[in-house]
Amino acid sequence: MKLDVTVMRTMSKEDYRVLGAVEIGMKTHELVPVSLCMSIARLRHGGANKVMSSLLRDKLLSHDRSKGYDGYRLTNSGYDILALRTLFQKKIVSALGDKIGIGKESDIYIAATPEGKQVVLKFHRLGRTSFRAVRKKRDYLRGNGSGKSTSWLFMSRLSALKEYAFMKALHSVGYPTPTPLSHSRHVVAMTLVRGCPLYQVRTRSEVSPLQAESIFNQSVDLAARLARHGLVHCDLNEFNLMVDLSGIQQTLNSDNDVGGHYVRNSGATTRGEGALSVHSVLGEHQSVDGTGEKIIEEKPKPMETLEDGTPKPLVTLIDFPQMVSTKHPNAKELYERDVECLIKFFIRKLNVVGGEGEESMREGWTWEDVNAGGGEVENVEGRLDGELQASGFSDENVKRDLELYYFNKREAIAEVEEGEEGESDEEDEEGESEEEGEGEQEEEEEEEEEVSSEVVSEVVSEEASAS
Ligand code: ADP
Ligand code: MG
Repeated sequence: MKLDVTVMRTMSKEDYRVLGAVEIGMKTHELVPVSLCMSIARLRHGGANKVMSSLLRDKLLSHDRSKGYDGYRLTNSGYDILALRTLFQKKIVSALGDKIGIGKESDIYIAATPEGKQVVLKFHRLGRTSFRAVRKKRDYLRGNGSGKSTSWLFMSRLSALKEYAFMKALHSVGYPTPTPLSHSRHVVAMTLVRGCPLYQVRTRSEVSPLQAESIFNQSVDLAARLARHGLVHCDLNEFNLMVDLSGIQQTLNSDNDVGGHYVRNSGATTRGEGALSVHSVLGEHQSVDGTGEKIIEEKPKPMETLEDGTPKPLVTLIDFPQMVSTKHPNAKELYERDVECLIKFFIRKLNVVGGEGEESMREGWTWEDVNAGGGEVENVEGRLDGELQASGFSDENVKRDLELYYFNKREAIAEVEEGEEGESDEEDEEGESEEEGEGEQEEEEEEEEEVSSEVVSEVVSEEASAS
């Protein structure tokens, strides 16, 4: 489904108020009656028809009579528009550009700040695409394993909250992550990372053996460092590590063309002047120069070179919503899977073999190794708790819900992958995204079921403290 932001240019204040009212109504009602919308929006009932029909026409709301009354709920697009509106009002972004990445459960867009700098928006979209393939095999995800039914919208929001909190905590203690800028609902705003995902490295540029080794060491070191800080990434692989081989220092006002690196499965790139067209402007009377400055990762790194004279690659870690604590009952297994995944990738694709063969690649990185050295590290967990609280992610039940969700997802995907050896992730993603269409919208809406009570209270308390 394509995200169309042109509607934002003509939406009135009332439209946004009613859309926001449906969002609030959905915390207590699966289908929100018009009267409730109007009273939350503090609008007279007389104007309801006009507003409702324009929101329905723009597919920001959907209408349903299955409960015996005229009820409304937000569509994915409606939720997108509310998040974009908030980020627009906070002056984080003023225009939306091309889609530069399709993750398993996200869409990544380039966006422009009011100053014309380029940033990244990650839209979390739990419960879609690859999951459908998974669901065909096994209905793991219904009721997220805890017997409760799930609202994908609210789960996506929790996922974004968690990602933002982790990114902020990790970034604040010097991890190479994008700089978190802001978040709203299911959307996280962050800086654009230069380079390409690790899985594209070999095909996009030659890497010297020393560069490959350096990428390997930096990657596995991230896993180990996280473990020493009490965390396991749980999806540390070639899709979630970005590699910059340019050897050029990244600065805030760089004129370098960062865009050309971002060719992804969708075929969209951020290169070129057309990335931010006038149609993507999120409000009225905005002039946006999408060709201007780009905010890219501010790593104050000198231009290091390796012994063979090649630039030292810079590795950046992304994608955090599935991370767990090392106190998690499966932490060891999850950590080992991350490390094994990396080792396999580097052996197979980048011909990295430790001095004394494969076994030597594990030296220093085993669970026992990283735990043995642990203890005297900065208190990331403490910071993390602070961040989690600050972003409204404090309820233990909610945390558990999301962990369970990702855990079930991993299990289900592993099972499907076992059955489908040979089919690559890329093919999967492409296939799924092509399938997207009207049918999917219906399917998604069907799945919009009751929200678990913890999720409701969490959302209500956050919204209350925000207003
Ligand atoms: P998912 O959780 O769905 O896997 P990711 O966070 O891994 O989503 O993002 C998907 C893809 O989008 C990444 O593999 C990467 O190519 C691109 N991407 C994500 N964040 C950024 C960023 N800050 N800068 C540049 N590219 C990014
Ligand atoms: Mg990813």
